[in-house]
Amino acid sequence: MKYIGAHVSAAGGVDQAVERAVAIGADAFALFTKNQRQWRAKPLGEEVIEAFRDACRRHGFGPGQILPHDSYLINLGHPEAEGLAKSRAAFLDEMQRCERLGIDRLNFHPGSHLRKIGESDCLSRIAESINQALSETQGVTAVLENTAGQGSNLGWRFEQLAEIIAQVDDRSRVGVCLDTCHAFAAGYDLRTREATLAMLDEFDAVVGIDYLKGMHLNDAKSELGSRVDRHHSLGRGNIGTACFTALMRDPRTDDMPLVLETIEPAIWAEEIAWLRAQQEAP
Ligand SMILES: [Zn+2]
Ligand SMILES: [Zn+2]
Repeated sequence: MKYIGAHVSAAGGVDQAVERAVAIGADAFALFTKNQRQWRAKPLGEEVIEAFRDACRRHGFGPGQILPHDSYLINLGHPEAEGLAKSRAAFLDEMQRCERLGIDRLNFHPGSHLRKIGESDCLSRIAESINQALSETQGVTAVLENTAGQGSNLGWRFEQLAEIIAQVDDRSRVGVCLDTCHAFAAGYDLRTREATLAMLDEFDAVVGIDYLKGMHLNDAKSELGSRVDRHHSLGRGNIGTACFTALMRDPRTDDMPLVLETIEPAIWAEEIAWLRAQQEAP
């Protein structure tokens, strides 16, 4: 089963995200469970948690169909003690929010060395951050997102994701979300069906396909290997449509949230319908 949706707004309460997903014909969605540009947020109230759980039940969203994204401020590989401690506390809060909402996975960007520590040191810090969060929560998988490799962001090579995962104690609760725009910007060609399938083969060889827990389906304004993160609407960027058709027909993307983060929310319903139609060979 393919679960397809978009990163919808949670303005007015997380339960509103469910309604917005339904309105665009989605059976998967992403959301922020707090303001993504602030460190602090008030705890989720019992009422909004109940409203969220109820909306999910009514509209048939199971845990494998929802992939929240954490705050952009968090850097789990932060080179300095204070920044690292602040990030770890905020990440734990995000994991606990998922726990309370009944969501089984949380998507986050691995972290950045800020040119102050080495790459391996940073990857180990990220793994240790994950270990700490997992030891204090239950039932939520920490889902690393591959990055475009902009600035000093790590996780743009599959080898870096594998190095983090290798240092996680409970590997049953760590996974990866592959963002097509980020992969393309990082140098993984996706412009043809063959290239797209080869990227998944490489992911399987380096990381292991069982770790794939979601995807972000985005075309790219940026060039192949540019290390620049600029999303575009499907078929309008440098990736083109063949990649997304191939992904819709590949069983390796079954039963996980496939989420648009494309730049025109007004056409998400159209993009979702188009993706669904790709599942059938013409
Ligand atoms: Zn992201
Ligand atoms: Zn993404």
